[in-house]
Amino acid sequence: MRQASKAIRKHILALLSDGHFHSGETIAQQVGLSRTAVAGHISQLADWGLDVFKVKGKGYRLERGFPLLSADSIKRHLGNTKRAVIDVESVLPSTNTEMKKRIASKREDLENGDVVFAEIQTDGRGRHGRSWLAPVGGSLTFSMYWSFPDGYQSMAGLSLLVGLAVCDALKEFGVEDAELKWPNDIYLQGKKLAGVLIEVEGQIGATAHSVIGIGLNVCVPDNQYDVGQPHSDLASYLGTIPDRNALAAEIIKSLWSYLPKFTQQGFGPFTAYWEALDLYADKRIVLQMGEKRFSGIDRGVDASGALLVETQDGITRFHGGEVSLRGN
Ligand code: ATP
Repeated sequence: MRQASKAIRKHILALLSDGHFHSGETIAQQVGLSRTAVAGHISQLADWGLDVFKVKGKGYRLERGFPLLSADSIKRHLGNTKRAVIDVESVLPSTNTEMKKRIASKREDLENGDVVFAEIQTDGRGRHGRSWLAPVGGSLTFSMYWSFPDGYQSMAGLSLLVGLAVCDALKEFGVEDAELKWPNDIYLQGKKLAGVLIEVEGQIGATAHSVIGIGLNVCVPDNQYDVGQPHSDLASYLGTIPDRNALAAEIIKSLWSYLPKFTQQGFGPFTAYWEALDLYADKRIVLQMGEKRFSGIDRGVDASGALLVETQDGITRFHGGEVSLRGN
């Protein structure tokens, strides 16, 4: 996307986010474009999911205004304790794709803990090429960079660790009962609240450069949005919409506190904590691997984050990859 278009869309989004009417004329003056050009940008934003409508004689308005994500606000909540780049973009295909691009083009500028957020993702992704849907203004979608000098092997269990870090942060917002579904999902009241997507760049035997992607439903009511499976959101649970900037900062802080220990010691020290939050602890589960299915009892995880499944033949270990877990 061209820089000029990016800046214009950011400006338009900032104007509209207050939820009031803004005439095409006023917006055009503010961004220095014709009304026709403004209409084009707004129509593009609407195609990407911005809930904007137009009333003749009044102008454009969002169905529901929302406080924008702001790097300054997130940094204030973080309390400037650490040097890190906190970047908020208006529109990105996906924050993971963006972070991977940064790793490829300017890795030397990246520091552990740097983060990029997107207010709008046009191509949000889950595992196995599935989509992650994030209604504009109602979600947190972001990616953090973290490197592992001991290589790819030392990342085993990372998606589980990230789940723990998110659950810890949620506690600060009054969510005490979030649970984890192996290997990468966070559940609330039995429905999916957030997903984690780990990607990695780097050569075998060298430093692994990881991208930790998180998508979290802040205000995505199940009865208003079909995301492909039952889901939960924080606003429905809490009865109020939490401040996304404060929440973002809390999750970042939690990741910053978990990741150094994980980098040094691996997932081993965290297994008991993960098992305490396991959605399917000691329950019958089915693992799907392509066409193959494997059924047994969920008996927790080992020090590499592999799932332990008990059958009458004993315990079988499963590593993330192509495996999808379902309740039985
Ligand atoms: P797995 O158990 O293999 O992780 P999954 O269905 O949870 O399976 P993910 O790759 O983790 O798959 O996430 C993508 C899936 O999540 C989508 O196919 C869709 O069903 C669901 N999804 C997409 N957007 C959301 C959302 N905002 N909230 C909850 N679930 C979502």
